[in-house]
Amino acid sequence: MKTIYFDNNATTKVAEEVAEEMKPFFCELYGNPSSMHTFGGQIAAKIRKSRKQVANLLGCDPSEDPAEIIFTSGGTESDNAAINGVLAAAVDKRKIITSRVEHPAVLSVCKQLKEHGYTVIELEVDKQGRLDLDKLEEQIDDDTALVTIMHANNETGVIFPVEQIAELVKGKGSVFHTDAVQAVGKIPLNLSKSNIDLLSLSGHKLHAPKGVGVLYVRKGTRIKPFMLGGHQEKGRRAGTENIPGIVGLGKACELAAKNIKEENERVKKLRDKLENAILKNCPDSMLNGDKDNRLPNTSNISFEYIEGEAILLMLDKFGICASSGSACTSGSLEPSHVLRAMGVPFTAAHGSIRFSLSRYNTEEEVNYTIEKMPSIVNRLRELSPFVAK
Ligand code: PLP
Repeated sequence: MKTIYFDNNATTKVAEEVAEEMKPFFCELYGNPSSMHTFGGQIAAKIRKSRKQVANLLGCDPSEDPAEIIFTSGGTESDNAAINGVLAAAVDKRKIITSRVEHPAVLSVCKQLKEHGYTVIELEVDKQGRLDLDKLEEQIDDDTALVTIMHANNETGVIFPVEQIAELVKGKGSVFHTDAVQAVGKIPLNLSKSNIDLLSLSGHKLHAPKGVGVLYVRKGTRIKPFMLGGHQEKGRRAGTENIPGIVGLGKACELAAKNIKEENERVKKLRDKLENAILKNCPDSMLNGDKDNRLPNTSNISFEYIEGEAILLMLDKFGICASSGSACTSGSLEPSHVLRAMGVPFTAAHGSIRFSLSRYNTEEEVNYTIEKMPSIVNRLRELSPFVAK
């Protein structure tokens, strides 16, 4: 059975071109860029090239010292390094502002900071998952070391106005970090025209491998290193570089920069076709999130009276991979913190499914899924104790 992969916000296929570019760095060019010999030393040029490719996609400075692009092990490390690093440099400030719908890579750090005595403000979102910028502005004061708000939500795809937020934060004299793990490669961004101070991205969300990412740090931003050890990345991120990963991420950024507009239009058409057909053909279904201001690849749909996990299992039987908004923890089904923050009713939050597409999806796959969904939903409703028979 062919796999139909609609779970690209979880991870993506490594592009063939990316894998090809990485190959020599396993068994041939395996040197350590910190070595004195030519064999290792030549690898430093490859890191430089990748930094340029990433900088080109983000519209920032590719130079080396101090570099704005710092290679990390992924989105989680970049988020941790940004938050902890900025707070470590701003010793006299004790407040951090975030939103209730951030990824755990941000929320868990904030929770720990709270335990260490920091004031953490988690801003609410409205029913469509949007922030109230007036409320954000009200909260920023002289004690605020950092505002961290994601660029696009991983569950709903809702896009936050990060450029506007960055300007507002700058006006108030604080520092702004954005977790752009889901946005980079899916929507255009030009850091040279924005006031964003720090940004996290992750390779495996844009057709590069897992275990590599970037923390962008605007020149002049005060930050202390999070990973301590050797002098890699000019002392800003210790640890021997993941060369194949870095080379792959560079290539993935080059591909994204080349094709972002055309690809996203095509992906959006497919996503809309899938979404519209499901909403039309499955009664008591509804879209979660801001319909117009969303990533072009993401659709989060709730189905009343049935459980997301049951839908996923039935989709899986047909080879279709999606994901549910709920996390199954210790036997109890907890609805997603994102949907809860948006005030999605409990019954609908439990029955939510996220479809997330990529450049590799086809119309045939969309048509096949459109054909299967109504019978899956009807079958589960027949079995549901919540539906009057
Ligand atoms: N931030 C967001 C918004 C994400 O969606 C993810 C991954 O799902 C992460 C951070 C963590 O990234 P990584 O898997 O590279 O650690």
